Amino acid sequence: VKGFDGHKVAVLGLGRSGLATARALKAGGAIPVCWDDNPAARDKAEAEGFATADLMQPGAFDEIASLIVSPGIPHLYPEPNKVISAAWAAGVPVDNDIGLFFRSLAGGEWHEFDTPPRVVAVTGSNGKSTTSALIHHILTEAGKPSQLAGNIGRGVLDIDPPEDGGVVVLELSSYQTDLARALTPDVAVFTNLSPDHLDRHGGKGGYFAAKRRLFAEGGPDRAIIGVDENEGRYLANQLSEGAADDRVIRISSAQKLTGPGWQVFARKGFLAEYRKGRQTASIDLRPIPGLPGAHNHQNACAAYAACRALGLSPRTIEDAFHSFAGLPHRSQTIAQANGVRYVNDSKATNVDSAEKALRAFTNIRWICGGLEKEGGLDGLRDALTSVKKAYVIGREAAHFAMQLTGTDAEICTTMETAVARAMAEAEDGDTVLLAPAAASFDQYNNFEERGDDFTARVRAALASF
Ligand code: ADP
Repeated sequence: VKGFDGHKVAVLGLGRSGLATARALKAGGAIPVCWDDNPAARDKAEAEGFATADLMQPGAFDEIASLIVSPGIPHLYPEPNKVISAAWAAGVPVDNDIGLFFRSLAGGEWHEFDTPPRVVAVTGSNGKSTTSALIHHILTEAGKPSQLAGNIGRGVLDIDPPEDGGVVVLELSSYQTDLARALTPDVAVFTNLSPDHLDRHGGKGGYFAAKRRLFAEGGPDRAIIGVDENEGRYLANQLSEGAADDRVIRISSAQKLTGPGWQVFARKGFLAEYRKGRQTASIDLRPIPGLPGAHNHQNACAAYAACRALGLSPRTIEDAFHSFAGLPHRSQTIAQANGVRYVNDSKATNVDSAEKALRAFTNIRWICGGLEKEGGLDGLRDALTSVKKAYVIGREAAHFAMQLTGTDAEICTTMETAVARAMAEAEDGDTVLLAPAAASFDQYNNFEERGDDFTARVRAALASF
């Protein structure tokens, strides 16, 4: 990253992306000054030869050209971040790695290319990772050089530039779009808005405002917007006002979209594309193993629209859908044997996402439970009709099972017992589904470990038959 030659730039937060930022700044001639409250993280930066300095000391910003904040650092809620406030008080501009990336792109730093890479940015409450990974997969299958970065894959300042004419697919959280001083993707995707993660943005309004920055004045050539909520409809209407028809592609997984513009929607398992009132494509999504359920059909619509905006044909996209394996721990089919499908959705750590998973399958043998979230399991009631039996894990399995009134539930406590019992009872046509509706921390370090444990046990049992 150029533009700071010989100047000091402060880097706050020294995780994966913080270190990549420090390296990129140094490579461009800047002098990174790093800080992280965690001493182990500081040691790591020092071991790489970076200077560290406590940015809360008086005068810390005296010679600093800019402060670059890592995505993991809360900046406004529950209270304004003190380092960011100190930077502003000293007149120092605040940015993040995403802002640096867009500025270096606009500044021609990737100008060894005849055609600089195009950037697709994906934001929204749910489905960001799946949509980003799916776009990357489709581009790769279509023979277009693509790099996946941001919240998924590598830090954006850590990627190898894609070859000439390639694409960078960026997954952005609202924390990232909030602080970036430059945000100029060619194609921007807004999947949906749910009340999750609101605490850091002061409610729905603040959260929406952070996401919206991606679509500001002079924004993307193409905006792909989920219109199943009021906020998305509002944004789509505002952006398409007076602009060329084709700037906005509306997507939905809940309704048939009509009108003169460009629309992609999924209904009853079919994706449909309409342009100027005429149907231009139809894809049967039902047999695609990597994209089960209405929520994934929404992700399919978003990825389809993004790839259409990049010029790919419906046929190319449909072919690539079929080879998409899904992301680990998100409605991921890990095995099929004797007519039984095994699905790992360990990422379903709350009632909302577990409900999506339960609605995606039928005849479910449901492995659930763990560290319960506030609010109980009431939100699941309607989706429980597709559950044949629940196998409850977690230290508080009995309490969890008690809330599943009307559903056959067995207290298993451990994954080992739950997998053994569900496999012993599974019949032709059943789906054994791990979608806990609870956090994993009572028994695992994270949801990935929980999903890996489930996967390993299922595979070991199948191999020994
Ligand atoms: P994100 O990156 O936004 O957290 P992921 O693609 O990682 O989203 O999916 C996380 C979980 O959210 C999945 O396990 C699934 O249960 C649920 N989910 C995925 N896509 C959607 C969607 N489009 N709408 C609602 N929920 C979704």
